[in-house]
Amino acid sequence: MAKSKYEYVKSFELADHLLPHTWIVVRIDGRSFHRFSKDHQFKRPNDEQALRLMNECAKAVMEDISDIVFAYGVSDEYSFVFRKTSSLYERRSSKLMSILASLFASTYVMKWSQFFPDKKLQYAPCFDGRAVCYPTEAILLDYLAWRQVDCHINNQYNTCLWMLVEAGKSSEDAQKILKGTQADYKNELLYTQFGINYSTLPEIFRKGSSLFRRKEEEIVKFKDGLPIKRIRSKVVVEHCDIISQQFWEEHAYIIS
Ligand code: ATP
Ligand code: ATP
Ligand code: MG
Ligand code: MG
Ligand code: MG
Ligand code: MG
Repeated sequence: MAKSKYEYVKSFELADHLLPHTWIVVRIDGRSFHRFSKDHQFKRPNDEQALRLMNECAKAVMEDISDIVFAYGVSDEYSFVFRKTSSLYERRSSKLMSILASLFASTYVMKWSQFFPDKKLQYAPCFDGRAVCYPTEAILLDYLAWRQVDCHINNQYNTCLWMLVEAGKSSEDAQKILKGTQADYKNELLYTQFGINYSTLPEIFRKGSSLFRRKEEEIVKFKDGLPIKRIRSKVVVEHCDIISQQFWEEHAYIIS
């Protein structure tokens, strides 16, 4: 096709190809979900249905984009890890993160009523995105550990805060009580004042959600009364410890 005299404007676009042979992580995060969660009466400190909706969206993203090998989600955020050698969209940062953020957001809207059949979606949710390259496996695993530690710290803090508020403290007083306290103190407070053993709270709250593929044998049909099986790769959701090495040793295929 003949080029128009306007074609030169294309040269203003900056190249944003991400470094080859590194793990690309795209993290998306809900915009103003503090407000969104209030406007939609999310349960405090954790709305399980809202988390399950996030997981369903992440699963849809992974099923659509096969180059994503792992995803980790907590609160209103999700991190997606691409395989090291992915050449999807020529590894262009803006393409990858805009596609993930918009696919995630549109799926969130599509699936909303499945998770909240009695709640009307008040307005369009949206997600920001960023893409970062991690050059070594150790740094990638540190990134994921960072997100899971964050999940743990926030969840422990929020659980204490909401228990204190439910017990009649003002939000300000509750924050003062917790300011500068260590994990041990918070565990003790939950146990002695509210009879809650932190380690027995649902894993989805304490550990976030990890998505990855697992090969499973599936019966596809029956022939002469005998089952015909195929190995299928399925995206599974687990609430496991991804800080310790054990998970990665047992699932070495994920990021190899
Ligand atoms: P930003 O636009 O900068 O991301 P934000 O309001 O989304 O601002 P975040 O730091 O992303 O702030 O925090 C998300 C907030 O959304 C949480 O602090 C919490 O109040 C709320 N939230 C998200 N998911 C849930 C959930 N499953 N249950 C209860 N509250 C939730
Ligand atoms: P990419 O993912 O690279 O953007 P694409 O298939 O979306 O690929 P585009 O160059 O963006 O390719 O072109 C969009 C195409 O969508 C058009 O060529 C046309 O076929 C179709 N399309 C978009 N809007 C309309 C419309 N209003 N009516 C008919 N066809 C449309
Ligand atoms: Mg933010
Ligand atoms: Mg947010
Ligand atoms: Mg967030
Ligand atoms: Mg297009």
